[in-house]
Amino acid sequence: MNSRGSVFFFLLFLTLLCGLGALYYVKGEWTPPMLTLTPQQSTVGLKTVFTLTAADTDSDLRRLEVVAHQGSNTVSILSKDIAPQTRDIQEQFSLPAQGLKNEPVTLVATVTDTSWHRFGRGNKAEVRQEMALDLKPPVISVLSGQHNVNQGGAGCLVYSTNEELARSGVQVGSYFFPGYPYQGGKYICFFALPYEVDPKAVTPVLVAEDLANNAVTTGFFFRPLLKKFKHDSINISDNFLQSKMGQFVDIYPGLSLVDVFLKVNSELRAKNVAFLKELGTDTVPQMLWEGTFVRLPNSAPMAGFGDNRTYMYQNNPIDNQTHLGADLASLVTSPVPAGNTGRVILAEFMGIYGNVIVLDHGFGVHSLYSHLSEIHVHKGDTVQRSQIIGKTGATGMAGGDHLHFGMLISGIQVQPIEWWDSHWIRDNITAKLN
Ligand SMILES: [Zn+2]
Repeated sequence: MNSRGSVFFFLLFLTLLCGLGALYYVKGEWTPPMLTLTPQQSTVGLKTVFTLTAADTDSDLRRLEVVAHQGSNTVSILSKDIAPQTRDIQEQFSLPAQGLKNEPVTLVATVTDTSWHRFGRGNKAEVRQEMALDLKPPVISVLSGQHNVNQGGAGCLVYSTNEELARSGVQVGSYFFPGYPYQGGKYICFFALPYEVDPKAVTPVLVAEDLANNAVTTGFFFRPLLKKFKHDSINISDNFLQSKMGQFVDIYPGLSLVDVFLKVNSELRAKNVAFLKELGTDTVPQMLWEGTFVRLPNSAPMAGFGDNRTYMYQNNPIDNQTHLGADLASLVTSPVPAGNTGRVILAEFMGIYGNVIVLDHGFGVHSLYSHLSEIHVHKGDTVQRSQIIGKTGATGMAGGDHLHFGMLISGIQVQPIEWWDSHWIRDNITAKLN
C-alpha cells in the first residue's frame, strides 16, 4: 500500500472512531435505573409477596434478576429479559418452597438498562435485603377448657403460642373475632356465636398467623347451647308514625310516613348495625372491666335479645326484624349507669338507636345504651362502673321511655343477660383467665 492509501485508511478509521464516540456519548448515559424491593420486614415466609419496582428515565430497561443467598447456597428466584422500550416495570414474586432453609436469607435484586455504558452491559442497580426466613407455622396451645356457648351468646378463649403472631382469633363461619396479647405471653379472644349463625352448621376454630404469614387452624372444645327465641308482633299505629317519623323525614324525604318507617326499620337499621360492627375494632388490648355488668336499677324487662318481631300496620304484616338487645323499663328519664368501667367511643344521635352511648371495655367487649333522652358523657371520656352516663328516653325507634341495653363482641351483638350473671362471668371468663 502506498502512503496515500495509508492516509485514506487512517482518516476513515478516525471518522469511524469519532462516530462511535459521538454515539457512545448519546447512548452511553451513566445513570443507573431506580430499583426498590418491598416489603422491608425482618421476617418473611413463603406467603410473603415481594414487589420489585424498576424505572429509568434515560434508557430503556434491559434485564431483571433476583437471587437468594443462604450461606454458600444460591437460588435463582427471578430472571427476566425486559421487553424493548420499557422504562417502568413492576414484578411480584414469592420465595420458592424448594431449595431454601429455615434460616436467614439475603435477597439480591439487580436491574440493568440498555445504556452502552460498561462496554455495552448497561448501568446496573442492585438492592440487597437480609431477613429471617420462617417456613414453619406457629404452634398454638389452647389453655382454656370447655366452651359452652349460648346461641347468640359470648365465649372466651385463652391460648398461647411459640412465636409472635401477626393475627389470631376465632373464626365462626364468616365472622372473625380477633384475639389480643394478654399477660405472660398468653392471648385472649372474646368471640360470639352470632344469633344468625346456625350452630349445627358451623364449628368455631382458632386461626393464627405469624409475622411471615404462616397460618395454622386449631379446633377447641366447643358446645353450642341452643336457644328458643321468642316471636312477637308489634302494632304500628298512625299515632306512632306521626310522633316518631319526624326524626327521619329529612333522610327519606317525599315518602309517606309508613314508607319512611319501612326505610328506617330496614335500611337505616342495617346501616346502624354495620356501623356498630365497624366500631368493633375501636378497643384497647386490656381488660378495663370487672365483676358483673350493672343493670338499670328498678327496671322491668320489656323485650329480650333475639326476639323476632313482626311489625303490623292496619292489621297487615309490613316488616320483620330481630331485636338484638334487652329493653328495660323504669321511671321516665331514669338515670342510666355505665354497665362497667370503660371508654366512651360513641355518644351521639344515631338512627334507630336515637341518642346512644357505646362504651369499650377492652378486648373487643362493648356495651350500648340507646333511646336516651340525655347524654352526660363525651367520646373519649373514661367512665367508672355505675357512673351515671345519661337518662332513659324514647329517641330513635322507641315507642315509649325505656333503655335498650346491648352487649357487643367485636361489633357483633350478643345476649346481654350473660353479662349481668355472676355465675356466667365466673364460669366463662374469670375461671379461664386464672
Ligand atoms: Zn330495644
